[in-house]
Amino acid sequence: MMDMQPKGVENDDLFATDPDAQRTQNELRIARSKLGAFLDLIPAGLVIHQRHAIIFANSEAGAVIGIPARELVGHHIFDFIDDEHAGLVRDKFNQCFDDSVTVRSLEVQLVDVGGKKRVIQLSMSPLFWEGLPVINIVFSDITLLKQKEHELFILSTTDSLTGAYNRRYFMDAAAREFKQFLRHGTPLSLMVMDIDYFKRINDSFGHAVGDDAIKAFVNAGLGSLRQEDVLGRMGGEEFAVLLPQTTVEGAVAIAERLRRRVADITIEARGERAGFTVSIGVTQAVTSDASIETGLNRADRALYEAKATGRNRVVLEL
Ligand code: GH3
Ligand code: MG
Ligand code: MG
Repeated sequence: MMDMQPKGVENDDLFATDPDAQRTQNELRIARSKLGAFLDLIPAGLVIHQRHAIIFANSEAGAVIGIPARELVGHHIFDFIDDEHAGLVRDKFNQCFDDSVTVRSLEVQLVDVGGKKRVIQLSMSPLFWEGLPVINIVFSDITLLKQKEHELFILSTTDSLTGAYNRRYFMDAAAREFKQFLRHGTPLSLMVMDIDYFKRINDSFGHAVGDDAIKAFVNAGLGSLRQEDVLGRMGGEEFAVLLPQTTVEGAVAIAERLRRRVADITIEARGERAGFTVSIGVTQAVTSDASIETGLNRADRALYEAKATGRNRVVLEL
């Protein structure tokens, strides 16, 4: 059973000398004990703090933070808030306290007693507790939910073999970037790539080695691109890249660098060392394009020309 008594007000029955007052005190204690048992059943963390000193915590709050609830009493609330979020939480406490507003669904990172970070969603409201103005916090541990959400996002947007984005995500991102390009006029370049004579790798060394070659290709691609570039696996050994805020000259330079890197890859199979090359078509979005597909078709034509004129090359089509 938790201690429902806030610090500093534990003397409230010292003066209960007459039997009636004592009875009232006893009833109050029973009521508190019942309320405490009830609050301990709630599957949400409850914490009350006065000027950041915790004066009450329920069992769930203790479970999330990693110590028994009664041991939380007396701790400073910021002992458990990640430094990165302390400023935001402090602002919200002030807002809650000064303007008497309820703050809802704030997502912050908490640090448990073992130093492990947990994501919580909290709401807070101002309250009077035993005559003192305090802040009442209710929170849920959403660490697992966030993790699952992230895993689902990865599963639904990436290709499991290579970790590159899948075709659907790539096309959504491409449509978004094309809109940005139309609105702001910042350059948007596109690349379409296809590994050369890939069937030979599969035929000579088997599908598993082919898979390794595709992975090595994506690693070389990611190593040549910036964080904001989007590399998508469009199918088989065909990939496309969105290069936001990149001029077509810049895109050609990046494509050349990538082409050379790929030509340097060696894969070991059946005691042999093998390599492969890539052909790349490059273009940029233009305002007369009806949609991003128009630009991608143009890059595809450039890729076709790269294949037709000998492979292992970069062709630009404007
Ligand atoms: P080209 O230079 O004209 O592109 O010749 P290519 O042999 O690469 O021809 P194409 O691009 O048409 O063939 C791609 C081959 O890639 C066909 C398919 O068997 C193989 N492939 C597609 N996806 C995978 C994959 O996930 N793993 C492996 N190992 N092979 C794949
Ligand atoms: Mg190919
Ligand atoms: Mg192909």
